[in-house]
Amino acid sequence: MILRARWVVPVDGPPIKNGAVRINGDRIAEVGDAKHVTGQPSLDFVDAVILPGFVNAHTHLELTHLHARVPPTSDFTDWLRRLRNATNGFAIDDDQLRSSVHQGMRQSLAAGVTTVGDITARPTVTRPAMNRGPLNVVSFGEVIAVGRIRRHLADRIEAAIDTTHATDTLSIGISPHAPYTVEAEGFQASVEHAERGDMPVCIHACETRDEQEYTESGGGRFRDYLHDLGLWDDGIRCPQMSPIPWLYNCGALGPRTLLAHGNYLDATDIELLVQTGTHIAYCPRTHAAFGHDPHPFEQLIPAGVNVCIGTDSLASNPSLSILDELRHVRRHREDTSRELLLQLGTLRAAAALGCADDRGSITASKRADLAIIPLSSDGPVDPVENILTSTHGVIAVYVAGRRIDMKRS
Ligand SMILES: [Zn+2]
Repeated sequence: MILRARWVVPVDGPPIKNGAVRINGDRIAEVGDAKHVTGQPSLDFVDAVILPGFVNAHTHLELTHLHARVPPTSDFTDWLRRLRNATNGFAIDDDQLRSSVHQGMRQSLAAGVTTVGDITARPTVTRPAMNRGPLNVVSFGEVIAVGRIRRHLADRIEAAIDTTHATDTLSIGISPHAPYTVEAEGFQASVEHAERGDMPVCIHACETRDEQEYTESGGGRFRDYLHDLGLWDDGIRCPQMSPIPWLYNCGALGPRTLLAHGNYLDATDIELLVQTGTHIAYCPRTHAAFGHDPHPFEQLIPAGVNVCIGTDSLASNPSLSILDELRHVRRHREDTSRELLLQLGTLRAAAALGCADDRGSITASKRADLAIIPLSSDGPVDPVENILTSTHGVIAVYVAGRRIDMKRS
């Protein structure tokens, strides 16, 4: 099958005017000028751009039901409390949880997202609900084990890395949650299991100043928060240093590790991220909603850190669309290169999830995961600038060479 459009933007090469993509089964067979890439059957998208499917490096689809229930404010620690109250107040049973992740999957696909890095606290329910596609899921099982719930560490890790429900479209990763909810032994054990199982690791880190105060001094609002949750006990050993050097000492940084957020990083942190090949997922609209300092991605990338984009959950974000995130960054960081921005939501995110050999660009032999977006007729000539400055949604999505029927997916 051949798909043609005014532009094909492969991401790993320059945009191709009047381009075409030949799909063979679930793979991309050829990409190039439509004069040379020929065959039947064919479909012409005319005034549109064919892009690789977007990759959402960081989300929590199981929180889809909390959309707009816990509006973010500039006080993240207070929001965490309200989120926890809401999670209890809107506690959902297994059927409702399945429905929440299915809604999240549908919304992702409708936005042209074909792969997600998804955090799940209830993997025994969410994985069987998500493992038959069409969305590709890297399912990070969440581990929280600190203070009074420290004893659950082994059980949490076992559930997180359980591969029973892994399929062609769902692979397994582990997410030791954050430096304030997992202790050193927990990080060490999680990473050892990830290495043994060749799995990716996702950690929430350097999200707020309160987190930094807690890891450096053992005090502040996060300590109060752990107290209020009834988790505090006197056996908790606080890191006594900032999160990045501590995670490094725990052996938790490296090319299989993706840090969600990385909002507050100094020069030493950046050096450790470069040295270890650790990835950072920037979540632009969630970041803006909490009123953080500007994200340092423009320092990180030239320094050699792989940065990518995530939406985080619908509890803190208006949509699960990576295109919306990229448009947000385009509006607020006008100097950022358009090509680079597109990489953050495709190829660089695939690299962070350990699947760049197979996804993230329109390249022969990769999976035929594609998103098609109409051009704005009065918009800029450059196709990437055109789609980043328009408000058009995705008009067609292909996963593994098959067009997704949004009404049925
Ligand atoms: Zn998150």
